[in-house]
Amino acid sequence: MFELNEKVQNLIPYDPVAGKYRIRLDANESFVTPSQALREQIDEELRHVHFNRYPDPYAEEVRKAFADLYGVPRSCVMAGNGSDEVITVVMNAFLQKGDTVVTLSPDFSMYGFYAALVECRVVTVEKNADCTVDAEKIIETVNRTGARMLVFSNPCNPTSLVLAREEVRKIVSSVEALVVLDEAYMDFSDQSMLSEFAGFDNLLILKTCSKALGMAAVRLGFAVGTQRLIDVLQAAKSPYNVNTLTQAIGAVVLSHPDYLQAAVQRILESRDELYEGFARLQEAYPQAKLHVFKPDANFVYIQTPKAAEIFEYLKENGIIVRLTGGALRVSAGRNYENEAVLHEVEACLKGESA
Ligand SMILES: *Cc1c(COP(=O)(O)O)cnc(C)c1O
Repeated sequence: MFELNEKVQNLIPYDPVAGKYRIRLDANESFVTPSQALREQIDEELRHVHFNRYPDPYAEEVRKAFADLYGVPRSCVMAGNGSDEVITVVMNAFLQKGDTVVTLSPDFSMYGFYAALVECRVVTVEKNADCTVDAEKIIETVNRTGARMLVFSNPCNPTSLVLAREEVRKIVSSVEALVVLDEAYMDFSDQSMLSEFAGFDNLLILKTCSKALGMAAVRLGFAVGTQRLIDVLQAAKSPYNVNTLTQAIGAVVLSHPDYLQAAVQRILESRDELYEGFARLQEAYPQAKLHVFKPDANFVYIQTPKAAEIFEYLKENGIIVRLTGGALRVSAGRNYENEAVLHEVEACLKGESA
């Protein structure tokens, strides 16, 4: 029998929730969809796609739209098939077997997964008990282990907490490692490093169209860094990594700052409503020991010893959220979705069925 190599023997595939639920608040997707006018513009672009031709390998038009939207030079932007693919290209390009990668915990689980696939050692820095980040501890760990890469999300998935720009700056300028700063949720906050990336030769910022822009189905993500780093990524990626349909749709959506702005505003209103609802439950049911974190992204993070119990209860009632460690991560949804999840969590805490 063909012998599997060691690194894939215990590989566990990413496990998105299967099954049908009336309410899905598990993946931090957006509930805002493009207006009729924007949809028509997308349809119009798709009408002109040449299906027999390979895509533009450098995705010039969609990179330009992204660059203009976020105020960075196009030559400092690389596009990928979702930021998940961008992470794999970054690791393939800048890591070698045996290198050390520093990640934080809790944080996005895929970083450690991809690092293991390129046969790197992963060293994890635990966050403080209140889920805040200790910049000094990170700097010390990166430098002590001689790490080649530090990767973390800001705001953080799953805690929804943002790290102040000043702290991020301190980390990037105190390590020699490449810092991969995943700003997937930064459209919901205001501590982006995008305006000053050019001052750091060891910084790559990741962005995605899957969250604030509501384009998770399209698979489009970006890396931003100095041209020296971006040139490497452009050379290391597979030639046609972003398909023509995605490039066309992305170019339209990214050319509408009004759409992004309006979407962010609606999502933040929903997020605040969800947060306040959970904060109310925290007050009303002290025995459940809910700890609701003040969110900086489009989801709310709640630690509780009852996390698994609440998760199962919600599932039985047709609502799916994310269970992560001893906590729940709930994406901001439409009004009725937020109300439903809060109602069912309360029913669970009361020990009655809905
Ligand atoms: C959702 C998410 C992404 C987005 O990944 P895509 O592949 O672009 O959909 C990236 N990083 C983090 C931390 C996320 O939560």
